Amino acid sequence: MKKVAVLGATGSIGKSSLDVLRANKNDFEPVLFTAHTDLNALLALKKEFPKALAVLSGAAGPVNYCGRQGLLEAIAGCGADIIINGIAGADGLEPSIAALSNGRRLALANKETIVMAGPLVFALAKEKNAKIIPVDSEHSAIFQLIQAHGKDNIDEIILTASGGPFKNFSIKDLEKVTADQALAHPTWSMGPKITIDSATLANKGLEVIEAVRLFDFDINKIRVVIHPQSIVHSMVRLKNGNIYAQMSKPDMRHPIQNALYWPKINPYSLEPLDFGNLTLEFGSPDTDRFPMLALAYRACAMGIMYPAIYNAANEAAVQLFLDKKIRFLDIHRIVGYVLSSGEWSGQMTKFDLENILIIDRKAREMAVGLIGSKKWF
Ligand code: MN
Repeated sequence: MKKVAVLGATGSIGKSSLDVLRANKNDFEPVLFTAHTDLNALLALKKEFPKALAVLSGAAGPVNYCGRQGLLEAIAGCGADIIINGIAGADGLEPSIAALSNGRRLALANKETIVMAGPLVFALAKEKNAKIIPVDSEHSAIFQLIQAHGKDNIDEIILTASGGPFKNFSIKDLEKVTADQALAHPTWSMGPKITIDSATLANKGLEVIEAVRLFDFDINKIRVVIHPQSIVHSMVRLKNGNIYAQMSKPDMRHPIQNALYWPKINPYSLEPLDFGNLTLEFGSPDTDRFPMLALAYRACAMGIMYPAIYNAANEAAVQLFLDKKIRFLDIHRIVGYVLSSGEWSGQMTKFDLENILIIDRKAREMAVGLIGSKKWF
């Protein structure tokens, strides 16, 4: 029986995690749930699992811990063997660090942890003998494929991308798309931020950086392929040219189960993939129409701190788009402008949490500050 904490329990990853925990009650015991502001959903979980601690990180309420500090204290003290981090965005970084600092296994759905601070969190995991298991579906696939085939035999990682709802739109069409259109994702059901990132391909950009850092691969050995059905979660090409894929339905319960049961193979409980009516398509991404992908490669090549800048500027720009303050294509214009700013040169000296958080804040401020000006054109 393993004790499990679910961070971001009321979000999309949290709900899938809860399904997995409910379906495998003999193997896992929930000991902690956290939510940011959704008190009602959190209280419902507390009622269902009375022994688990409940944390509300972004508001006050009748729960065990409140606020950001309460969240970090609860992670340190909850006694979990495995911590699932399903918190959205940069807010997930410090909870990941708290989990690893206490030597817990981190089942990581929060890609920002790796994008912002990869080298830092790997050093911490090593020091504390804590394991990081990816839950992002593509990285879960690559993690399994590397274990199956051996890293030294792999020449290239092929990350699949659904292409999002606008994969066939022209630049002219993209200029006019609305937040509501962008929020309707064809294959995955997710929170608003990551859904917009899927539409701009920033999500894939973040995932390229995540793969570089998680698996220690050169960025030129990571290729993105558009695959609209989201059945092939990623592939590896071995040095002999053979390509291996990991396939399953687009259902986050798969990678969550994989992470919870690792290094064992989990019992088979989800509906099998039906080949009777299955079409798989593949294509190349168009970085002219989706520059956020090219900007991620650029950020990764620019230096250790730039992925955090890419991430922060993008998070701020996506919020501005959701608030209807900018247009869809302004997202990449803002991120490109912020990445290229000369202001970063003096700030890249020390790769520690404090400096990462300072840079994160400055990049957001710079992105928001561009509103009203047209500097980014
Ligand atoms: Mn993913």
